Amino acid sequence: MSEQPRRKIAIVGAGAGGVLLASALARPGPVLFDVTLIGPKAGRGAAYGASDEGLLLNTRAAAMSLDPASPSGFVDWLNTFRPRAEPWTAEDFAPRRLLGDYLETRLANLQDRTPGLGSTRWVAGTVRSVAQQQGGWALRLDSGEQLEAEAVVLATGPARPRPLLFNGRAEVEAYVQDDPWNEDGLKAARGGGEVLIAGMGLSFADAAAALWRLNPEIRVVAVSRHGVAPRIHVQGGAGESLFAGGYPAASSELQSRLSPTAGAGAGEGDPEIRESRLEELRRHGPSVWAALGQDQRRLFLRHVLPHWEAERHRLPPQLGQVLRAAIERGKLELVRGRIAEAKALSDGSGARVALKTDKGPRALTVRRIVNCTGPETDPYRSRNPVLLDLLDQGLATADELGLGLRVAEDAAAIGAEGRPTPGLFALGVLTQGRVFEITGLPEIRAQAYALAGALAALPAPTPGAVHALAANAN
Ligand SMILES: Cc1cc2nc3c(=O)[nH]c(=O)nc-3n(C[C@H](O)[C@H](O)[C@H](O)COP(=O)(O)OP(=O)(O)OC[C@H]3O[C@@H](n4cnc5c(N)ncnc54)[C@H](O)[C@@H]3O)c2cc1C
Repeated sequence: MSEQPRRKIAIVGAGAGGVLLASALARPGPVLFDVTLIGPKAGRGAAYGASDEGLLLNTRAAAMSLDPASPSGFVDWLNTFRPRAEPWTAEDFAPRRLLGDYLETRLANLQDRTPGLGSTRWVAGTVRSVAQQQGGWALRLDSGEQLEAEAVVLATGPARPRPLLFNGRAEVEAYVQDDPWNEDGLKAARGGGEVLIAGMGLSFADAAAALWRLNPEIRVVAVSRHGVAPRIHVQGGAGESLFAGGYPAASSELQSRLSPTAGAGAGEGDPEIRESRLEELRRHGPSVWAALGQDQRRLFLRHVLPHWEAERHRLPPQLGQVLRAAIERGKLELVRGRIAEAKALSDGSGARVALKTDKGPRALTVRRIVNCTGPETDPYRSRNPVLLDLLDQGLATADELGLGLRVAEDAAAIGAEGRPTPGLFALGVLTQGRVFEITGLPEIRAQAYALAGALAALPAPTPGAVHALAANAN
C-alpha cells in the first residue's frame, strides 16, 4: 500500500484565520498535513482576544461557524459549552470573547487528534523572519527557535491603526492611545470628563461603550473626516439592488448609488437602512472592486469607503441602542473634521485639543485621545517583523494601494520579480488589495478552505530537503 503524501505547513498567526486553515487542513483527504501555527495567543487576535464581556460580535452567531458544512457550529458550541438561561440562537450577537474561546477550543481539539492522520501544533511566539531554503522555508521566532516547513501561510490579521498625527502630539503623548483594543488604556479615562475618539467605525463604537461601562458620565466626542457613523443591524425585507444595472466603473457613481437618499426605501439619515443592503455589499464587494480601475480604486478608498463601511460593517442592535441613548443623554457627539493640534494642560490632567470641523474651529479639553481610525493595512507601516523581513528580501511585495500584499488568485504572495513566490501564501486581510471583501470571518473561512485545496496540490518537495517541523533550538 502506498503511503499518503504529507506536507509540512507553517501558519504565521494562530488567530481566526490560522485556526480556520488548520481546521480545513485536518479534514480527511488524499494529502496529510503536519501543521504548525505560530502566534502569541491560541485562537485570539485583535478581534477575539478581548476580555471585556461587553464587546460583542458585529455578526450574528449564525455566520460564525468554523465549519462551512455546519452553519450552526458556533451556536451549538455556545449552547453546549457556554449555556445561559435563554438558549443561544442563530440571531444572537455573542460576546467576542466567546468566539475566542470557541477558536481556542478548536485549536486544542486539533492538537489532540489521533497521530497518523496529520497533526496540528501551536507554538507560542512571534515569527521574526522567514528564509527560503532548499525544498522549503526556515522560520525564526523571537525566542530564537527555528522551524522548518514546505509552505508558509501568513495569517497575521489586522494591525493596530497608524499612529495619529497632529501638531503637538509629542507634548500630549501621555494622553494618546493608538491601540483602541488596549482595554487597560481606556481605564485611564475612568475618572470622567471628555474623551476624544478619532475615527467613527466599529472600533469607535466599542471604545465609547467600554468607556461608558467604566463611567457612564464620560462625554465622548468622535471626530472623523467624513463624519459617517456605522449603521445598525436590523431585520429587513428585500430592497432594490444597487447593482442591477451592472457594476460602476467610476467611484463617483458608486458614491451616488450608496448615498442614503439614493437607496430605495432608505429615509435620509436613517441609521437602519435595510439589512438587504449589507448582504448586497458583502456579496458584490469583490465584483465592485474588480470593476474599478486602479485610479478609481484610489478615489474609492478616499471618498467612498467610509460610506461603504458604514453600511457593510454594522453595529449589533444592543450597541446601536447604547450609542443612540448616549446621544440623547448628551454624552456622545459626532463631529466631522480632524484634530489640528493639542497642548498639554498645565495641571497634568489631560490635553487641550483644537479641532478643525466642517462648522469651523472647535476647542476641547480631554482626558484622553483614542485612535479608532481602523487597522493599518500597509505592510510597510505594520511594524510586523515578518512582513518587513519578507518585503526586504523581495519575497513578498506590498499592494500598490497599501492594502496588504500583492497576491495571485490562489493567494500566493507575489515577489519583487512579479512572480508568485513558491510556497508562500497570505490569508485574510493581507489579501485585501486583490479581493477587497475579506474582513469578516465568513469570507476568511471561504478563503481558508480554498487555500487548503491549493496547499494539497503543492508539488512534492525535494526528498530529504525538509525533514521535520521539529524545533531546532538555536
Ligand atoms: C476589533 C475587531 C472586531 C471584529 N469583529 C468581528 C466580528 O464581529 N465578526 C467578524 O466576522 N469579523 C470581525 N472582525 C474581523 C476579524 O479581524 C476577523 O473576523 C478575524 O479575526 C481575522 O482573523 P485573522 O486570523 O486574520 O486575524 P486575527 O484573528 O487577528 O489573528 C492574527 C494573529 O496573528 C498574530 N500575529 C501577527 N503577526 C505575527 C507574527 N509575526 N508571528 C506570529 N503571530 C503573529 C496576531 O498576534 C494574531 O494573534 C473584527 C476585527 C476587529 C479588529
